[in-house]
Amino acid sequence: MINVAVCGAAGRMGQTVCDAVQAADDLSLVGRADPLLDTALVDVLGDADVVVDFTTPDAAVENARTCLEAGVHCVMGTTGADFSALEGVGSANLFVAPNFAIGAVLMMELAQRVAPHMPECEIVELHHDRKLDAPSGTAKRTADLVRAAGGNVHEPIHSVRLPGLVAHQEVVFGGPGQTLTIRHDSTARESFMPGVLLAVRKVASLERSPTVGLEHLL
Ligand code: NAP
Repeated sequence: MINVAVCGAAGRMGQTVCDAVQAADDLSLVGRADPLLDTALVDVLGDADVVVDFTTPDAAVENARTCLEAGVHCVMGTTGADFSALEGVGSANLFVAPNFAIGAVLMMELAQRVAPHMPECEIVELHHDRKLDAPSGTAKRTADLVRAAGGNVHEPIHSVRLPGLVAHQEVVFGGPGQTLTIRHDSTARESFMPGVLLAVRKVASLERSPTVGLEHLL
């Protein structure tokens, strides 16, 4: 049994993660940290093997550091923060995924495949209107991967924020006389849960910390 605490437990993602952990036979939900619940991360760390963090860009790096220094593994879903300074901190592992949806991981892989053949590329990401960061972590990660594969991602990345949206992205490639569009839509937050639970189960055995990207666990 893996003991899991959720940081940001009263948020949109945090609540969905709590439900998914409670529904899994091999996981036990041992703590919910969130200002709304009047419970801080340090209050729930003692019982946890793994902390899942879906909070805010401002809080996420310190939350991860707190976990690592306490010897508790951390699965980080919060976007818009830079975790590179946490390399080698503490005795536990940090796993970071800009996007836990398998379809989004495949979108990024397909985009890397297209880039050498049709390098000119634009990224349009669309999210609900309460998302704090722009462009999204997924869009920045896609741009890095496409560039590394030989693509020319035009700036700026386009960010749309509207009620009614969840998380969506188009990667559009253009060449003489043709375009190719790869599109992924998360229409519900449940789309992220298989990836989050996979990370919870695998974070203890990572060879590198931080490890960034769900593709490393698949
Ligand atoms: P949200 O609904 O605003 O939830 C965030 C929650 O975290 C809020 O309840 C917030 O409380 C709480 N919080 C803030 N600081 C905290 C701290 N230091 N300790 C404990 N809890 C704290 O946001 P969301 O829509 O769930 O999104 C959360 C993050 O996940 C965002 O960065 C988003 O981009 C990211 N996300 C990632 C993925 C992925 O696949 N990686 C998918 C979807 C979303 P207050 O409201 O009181 O500040």
